[in-house]
Amino acid sequence: MNPQLKSLIQLQKIDNEIVELERGKAAIPQQIESGKAGIKEKQAQLKKAQDTLTELQKKRKDLENDVIIENDHIAKTKTKLGLVKTNKEYSAILSEVDTVKEKILILEDQELELMEVLERKEKELPSLKSNCKEQEEIFNTYKLKKEAEAERTEKELEIIRPRRSQIGSSLDAKLLGQYNKLFKARDGLVVVLVHEDICQGCHQKILPQQVIDVKMGETVNSCEQCLRILYWEETNESAVPK
Ligand SMILES: [Zn+2]
Repeated sequence: MNPQLKSLIQLQKIDNEIVELERGKAAIPQQIESGKAGIKEKQAQLKKAQDTLTELQKKRKDLENDVIIENDHIAKTKTKLGLVKTNKEYSAILSEVDTVKEKILILEDQELELMEVLERKEKELPSLKSNCKEQEEIFNTYKLKKEAEAERTEKELEIIRPRRSQIGSSLDAKLLGQYNKLFKARDGLVVVLVHEDICQGCHQKILPQQVIDVKMGETVNSCEQCLRILYWEETNESAVPK
C-alpha cells in the first residue's frame, strides 16, 4: 500500500480516538453538574421543612402573646368591678370577663393543636437531614470518580497527541493540509472505506476504474462527490455485510 495512504488511514484512526476522548472529557463538567440534582432536591425538602417549622413557631409565639393580651384584658376588666354601682353594670363586666375567658380557651386549644403539629414536623427533620447528607456523599463519590476520569482521559490525550503529530509529519504537507481541511468540512470523517463500489463517506457510487485503483492502493484516491480519501480493506467484504 502507498505509504502516504497508510499514514492517512492511521491519522484518521488516531483522530477518531482523539475526538472520542475529547468528547468524553468535555461532557464531564455537565455530568457533574447534573449529579447535583439529587442534592438540590433533598436540600429543597429540608429547607421547606425548616421554613414550615419557623412559620409554625412564629404562629405559636403570636398565640402566646394573644393569650397574654387577653389575660391582661381580664385583669383590667376586673379592676372595674370595684367601681360599679349597679347590678346591671356588675353582670355586664362579668359577662365581658367570661367572653374573654372563652376566647382564651379557644386560643389555648389552637396553641395545643399547633404544638402537636410542631412536634410532628420536628421529628421529620433528622431524617431529612440524613437524606441530605446521604445524597451529598453519593454526589461526592460520583464527582471524585468523574474527576479521576477527566484526569485519566487527559493523560491518554497527552500520550496520543504527539503520536498524531508524528503521523501528520510523515505526510506530504499538501496531503496533510487537504486532510485537515476536510476534517473540518466533513465532521471529522476524511478517510473512508469503499464497500463494493460505494464510498462509505457519502454513500455514492464510485466509477469502476476508481474502484480498481482504490483496491490496488498504490495511489491516494479521493471520492469525486465528497472528496474524502478512499481505501480498501480485504476483509471489507465480510466485515461490512450488506
Ligand atoms: Zn464520497
